[in-house]
Amino acid sequence: MTVPFVSFRPLERELDADLRAAFDRVYRRSWYIGGEEDAAFERAFAAFCGVRCCVGVGNGLDALMLILKALGIGPGDEVIVPSNTYIATALAVTYAGARPVLVEPVPDTFNLDPDRIEAALSPRTKALLPVHLYGQACDMDAVMAVADRHGLPVVEDCAQAHGASWRGKRVGSFGVAAGFSFYPGKNLGALGDAGAVVTDDPALAEKVRALGNYGSLEKYHHLYKGHNSRLDELQAAFLLAKLPLLPRIGADRRAAADRYLREIRHPEVRLPVVRPEAEPVWHIFAVRCARRQALERHLASCGIQTGRHYPVPIHRQPCYGDLNLPEGSLPIAEEISRTELSLPMYYGMTPEEIGAVVAAVNSFPAEGAL
Ligand SMILES: *Cc1c(COP(=O)(O)O)cnc(C)c1O
Repeated sequence: MTVPFVSFRPLERELDADLRAAFDRVYRRSWYIGGEEDAAFERAFAAFCGVRCCVGVGNGLDALMLILKALGIGPGDEVIVPSNTYIATALAVTYAGARPVLVEPVPDTFNLDPDRIEAALSPRTKALLPVHLYGQACDMDAVMAVADRHGLPVVEDCAQAHGASWRGKRVGSFGVAAGFSFYPGKNLGALGDAGAVVTDDPALAEKVRALGNYGSLEKYHHLYKGHNSRLDELQAAFLLAKLPLLPRIGADRRAAADRYLREIRHPEVRLPVVRPEAEPVWHIFAVRCARRQALERHLASCGIQTGRHYPVPIHRQPCYGDLNLPEGSLPIAEEISRTELSLPMYYGMTPEEIGAVVAAVNSFPAEGAL
């Protein structure tokens, strides 16, 4: 049996008629940017996240960058970012003109370690940017406590965690604002690039909207030197068709992950730890193995596709050489980059597919075995 790392087929089959109807609705109206689909999706997604405002934008990177700019963060400022995340989190800070300051994660949950934040603060620190990585919420009690102690705003990177919660409260509703990505591979994916900012602060939402619309709220009147980053009507219509399924997408991924957690047993494969306060949505199911390449090859020989998230940590990327962080300076992120392996995870995985992944991992030959 072949199990892909990710497949959109089950969801596309289920939503085929709805997605085609969404296209027809927009096409018949001949109105493609800034219309009723966008407005309807924004209302629905704000309600889903449990906040008052949502602003559709072009992608997840822009969502975070626009929030930081709307908060007045720019040159000379620093923002706390986890050392183990997708590069977009750090780039959002860079694009705002500020400097990302990397803080190590807790290895077994992969999420930002709140106990390490304070040592990284300086008088230039203007915000905390935690990431709910792989679909599990950060320890938001601890992150918010540090933020409150130092009077710093929290901006959540929810690009991998649509619908995840911490103590029953959905991510995106803890900080001053949050950025979401609807890149096709994310748990709520558009049929192209798309993103959103959610916030409980209408003034902040309005500023984000202006910044993403050439700095203008009123046509041809420009308050800021803004960007062009808007959610188009087609993508909004597709997202609106998919949104009602999002709770089921999360539940389906949890069912697959629960089987992995129960049934995978191998002395060399370390499973992810789920905090009791967290209800993850499993964007990625990440395990760690010292002999990653051997495990990867063994799984491939069993027909199981895998991924690496992420093989090169941000501070070791050529583009971030200016951070001056040599090999060894962020050992936890580096260890994760060497040992992390992502197992297949997508909506509509069959019990047979999940079973094939479990069996393949459990049959990984021990070191030195022939
Ligand atoms: C995908 C992702 C982003 C960026 O989203 P895009 O829509 O690709 O711009 C930001 N942060 C994290 C953690 C992501 O996984």
